[in-house]
Amino acid sequence: MAQGNIGVTSDNIFPVIKKFLYSDHEIFLRELVSNAVDATQKLRTLASVGEAKGELGDMRVRVTIDKKRNTLTVSDHGIGMTAEEVDKYINQIAFSGAEEFLAKYKDDAAAIIGHFGLGFYSAFMVSSKVEIYSQSYQEDAKAVHWSCDGSPVYEMEDTIKAERGTDIVLHIDKDNKEFLEDARIQELLTKYCKFLPVEIVFGKKKEWKDGREVETEEDNIINDINPAWTRKPSELTEEDYKKFYHELYPMQFDEPLFHIHLNVDYPFHLTGILYFPKIKNNLDVRRNKIQLYCNQVYVTDEVENIVPEYLTLLHGVIDSPDIPLNVSRSYLQSDAAVKKISNHITKKVADKLAEIFKKEREDFEKKWDDIKLFIQFGMLSDEKFYERAVGFALFENIEHKFYTIEEYKEQIKEQQTDKNGDLVVLYTQDPDSSYTYIQRAKEKGYDVLLMNGELDVHYISQAEQKNEKMRFVRVDSDVIENLIRKDDEKEKISLSESAENALQYSFEAKVPDGEKVNYNVSLESVSAEALPVFLTQNEWMRRMKEMSQHQQGMSFYGEMPDQYTMVVNTAHPLVASLADELVAAAAEKVAPIEEQLKAKQAEEARLQEEQKDIKPEDLTEEQKDAASAITEEVAGLKNQIRQIYEEVAADNKRLSQLIDIALLASGMLKGEGLAEFVKRSVEMM
Ligand code: ADP
Repeated sequence: MAQGNIGVTSDNIFPVIKKFLYSDHEIFLRELVSNAVDATQKLRTLASVGEAKGELGDMRVRVTIDKKRNTLTVSDHGIGMTAEEVDKYINQIAFSGAEEFLAKYKDDAAAIIGHFGLGFYSAFMVSSKVEIYSQSYQEDAKAVHWSCDGSPVYEMEDTIKAERGTDIVLHIDKDNKEFLEDARIQELLTKYCKFLPVEIVFGKKKEWKDGREVETEEDNIINDINPAWTRKPSELTEEDYKKFYHELYPMQFDEPLFHIHLNVDYPFHLTGILYFPKIKNNLDVRRNKIQLYCNQVYVTDEVENIVPEYLTLLHGVIDSPDIPLNVSRSYLQSDAAVKKISNHITKKVADKLAEIFKKEREDFEKKWDDIKLFIQFGMLSDEKFYERAVGFALFENIEHKFYTIEEYKEQIKEQQTDKNGDLVVLYTQDPDSSYTYIQRAKEKGYDVLLMNGELDVHYISQAEQKNEKMRFVRVDSDVIENLIRKDDEKEKISLSESAENALQYSFEAKVPDGEKVNYNVSLESVSAEALPVFLTQNEWMRRMKEMSQHQQGMSFYGEMPDQYTMVVNTAHPLVASLADELVAAAAEKVAPIEEQLKAKQAEEARLQEEQKDIKPEDLTEEQKDAASAITEEVAGLKNQIRQIYEEVAADNKRLSQLIDIALLASGMLKGEGLAEFVKRSVEMM
């Protein structure tokens, strides 16, 4: 028997391994099974070039648990190792600069494993003793037995082993008993080894018989050795892709919308399949993630640093031996190979979408609703993707017709260009609640887009930035004539000043005042066909509020009350007759005050005329006092008129009715207000 020290410069590597790799204990199994698979594939390669003689026999890798002896064994029938090879590959692990490296990466377990090729040594994370039994494929080679109890001292001796290949026997220590449980090992093998290229066997297949589970004679094979992404696209049917999707995500019952098969040889190696899932809500998205493999060995499903964030909404697998797996996360982002890979994936995804759009536009439109979120996310966060996607990103109108932005510009430019030459795009976020506004727009021959997606507000802002002289306005943000102004003239209000005051003051007295909503009253001569009274909401403020829901640092807007304008349409006969009614009801009290007011206003005008050429600093105290006195008097008189109208308005049912109808038309009349409206309507009938 030979004894020796494991060739590390550091005194004792094992405590280091155990300490730093604490959280990642389970990866030992991936490391050992990968080694077994490598050894098996190497033998196949040698056999294929005639270097290994004889029948290869059973090549499956087996994982077994012996609960009585507390061991877990990984066995292969691969190339095996001679005593010299064990000495070279296991005993003499290269350890140049070990100390520095450990100091630098002490928090990054994966880095330590990768750097030192410590794959095999990770067995010590869970074992009190590790043994190797190996028989090399080489003729005349003696079998070797190596064992080590976690100190740097190992033992090596000749032994007899019936079959070619290697058994790695782990004596699981008392802190890691979980790795002696069938269920735990089954889980880990499924996680890490599901698509390894050599069959992995763990126990026997089970089946239900007479109401209980019994073992069959058949090996329980963990993996699919030919996963779809390793095959040629030409060999695969649509069904195969779907089947693989469900193999990847057994708990996902929806079908994917479409897939992209990645296959690159140069300048890096990359294979994989990405799927566009049906995105129902945010929770769904994060459950099934893209899985990253390295030569069919599962590495991680945290691919945030490898693909752009919006691509993490996709599902599927990426397999690349060129992604440096065992480096720290921050390093990944700046790695040139990773950047290339990320760009390539972006390009592929955009190309595929462009292709479907071109070849199967109808299908693309049908799926638009499901992929819209993803595409908008990409366009908003990645300039390169924007440039590619702008040609196939769609706008949907309320008749469910789809247009690219260029098509849409063409479609509406005739009708919807305003007097400044700006193209005005009308949209709605809810066709039901803005029905009346949409009708008015349609009467004018305008088109209305449907913009009810989660990212639409941001998307609209981006479209405005990218397209000069193009403006989006929600169809209910103002009177339609104001939204797309064709001439400078605003319709003149044809009411007398007293009628105007009557309406202004009465409406202001009556609009509901809540903490969360503010109403401004504005008299405008819209048209006799429009509603007598209706609400509009300032486009800019509303957008700021909506954006603030997604963005940090904008909560200021979020906390502001909603601002609405209550437009009183003076061109409507009902409004004109209401004005007459109000004026008549208040006439007796208001007339004398108006008389006074007129006189005071005339005086005010005269004073202003007198002082208009004098610089403010040259005015005498007397002149200033006179001016402010008259201003105060005018305001006081106006206030008196206002108070009279407040009283008159208080029990004017038509006024209340008109206000409620405006609220109702915008879906804002609820609860008590609604009940009162119904009651009042009945009374008035
Ligand atoms: P890596 O696999 O990264 O090279 P390991 O520490 O896991 O590092 O293994 C070191 C070497 O030991 C391998 O490169 C291989 O030559 C040899 N080896 C490990 N396991 C086996 C095995 N099951 N069969 C044959 N050779 C093996």
